[in-house]
Amino acid sequence: MLYPLSYGRSLKEGIGRGSRIRTCDPLLPKQMRYQTAPCPARVRKAGILFGRGRPVENRALSGPETVCENPPPRVGLRAPVTAKILDGKAVAQQIRDELKGRVARVRERLGRSPALSIVLVGDDPASAVYVRNKLKTAEEAGMGIAHERLPATATLAATLEVVRRFNQDPSIDGILVQSPLPKAMGADAEQQVFDTIDPGKDVDGFSPISAGRLVQNREGFAPCTPAGVIELLVRSKIPIEGKHAVVIGRSDIVGKPMASLLLHKNATVTICHSRTRDLPAMAREADILVAAIGRPAFVTRDYVKPGAVVIDVGINSVTSPEDARRIFASHPDRLETFERRGSVLVGDVHPDVVEVAGALTPVPGGVGPLTIAMLMANTVKAAELRGR
Ligand code: NAD
Repeated sequence: MLYPLSYGRSLKEGIGRGSRIRTCDPLLPKQMRYQTAPCPARVRKAGILFGRGRPVENRALSGPETVCENPPPRVGLRAPVTAKILDGKAVAQQIRDELKGRVARVRERLGRSPALSIVLVGDDPASAVYVRNKLKTAEEAGMGIAHERLPATATLAATLEVVRRFNQDPSIDGILVQSPLPKAMGADAEQQVFDTIDPGKDVDGFSPISAGRLVQNREGFAPCTPAGVIELLVRSKIPIEGKHAVVIGRSDIVGKPMASLLLHKNATVTICHSRTRDLPAMAREADILVAAIGRPAFVTRDYVKPGAVVIDVGINSVTSPEDARRIFASHPDRLETFERRGSVLVGDVHPDVVEVAGALTPVPGGVGPLTIAMLMANTVKAAELRGR
């Protein structure tokens, strides 16, 4: 049992200066939002008087289930939360559930399940984890999977050969080559791979054909991460049309397709990047701010207009204790995770932005799960489009 949301909402129910629990109720008038109140159990036990000297009658905490058995939250460490947290995991689950019927219909029509092939080159541990998760999710969704693993010493020619084989294979609907490829393959290796994948099987949406179709708002495969962001916004009932969306990052796989998708939803879009002048001022113009930069906790409170919707695409691992202490100073739970594991994930958005934004995607549990869900959706779509 933790403390009910209503705890501390009014003077009658527990707000009092100089007490021990920091309240974080966004429904309070601003000047009362950050006041503190004592632990309810202690209130009951000691019959403390507080709040203009009136006895506390804490109705919300009167039942047996409300006994405060847990230690009170840590004083003053936790930042008051104002942003609505956009639950990417729940939306991703919804999308995967909706795919079940479509998978069954493909099975009826083709006599087999939609099938995804993944090529992993080298032994990058993060890539291995991503690939494992994608294969596991595909399997759980009842899809067929093919996994080709090449050593770090594999040549680009050998990798392209595998791609061509999957291109020709009629039992495969989607092809994904996990990034990054080993550096030794050369700077344009990924582009050559994307150029080789059959556009009808390009479920990552990285081929030039897919990119062109996306810009022209035609049927095709949109890259999974930005497509997932749109699903999250739409399913969270966040209006896009007419809003000013600012995308920080201009990569081919996130920033640019994100901008196109927001544009197709009738947002007014600004793309920012490493050469943008006065980035904080530009970002503060955003009703919807998307951060796809690849720099831990880069977007701080002064980048965010109060109430803006903030989408954090970044996934960065913090491994230095100094960085962890600096970034998570007001987030003891995350610091505990760091102490326990020796690393902790953080997005491109500073966790304190939760105090300014109107809505925010968490890291982990925000955009990440949607990327995989959209990969499944693209694979099912590829199977549906086959032979049509
Ligand atoms: P990238 O390195 O290709 O692109 C980063 C972009 O950020 C560039 O366009 C660059 O101009 C911009 N940038 C860099 N430094 C900047 C600065 N100081 N000021 C302003 N802009 C700056 O990265 P990417 O592939 O687009 O990925 C971005 C982030 O998203 C990374 O953290 C990556 O791990 C994450 N990502 C997450 C998912 C997911 O599933 N959640 C998927 C893909 C990427």
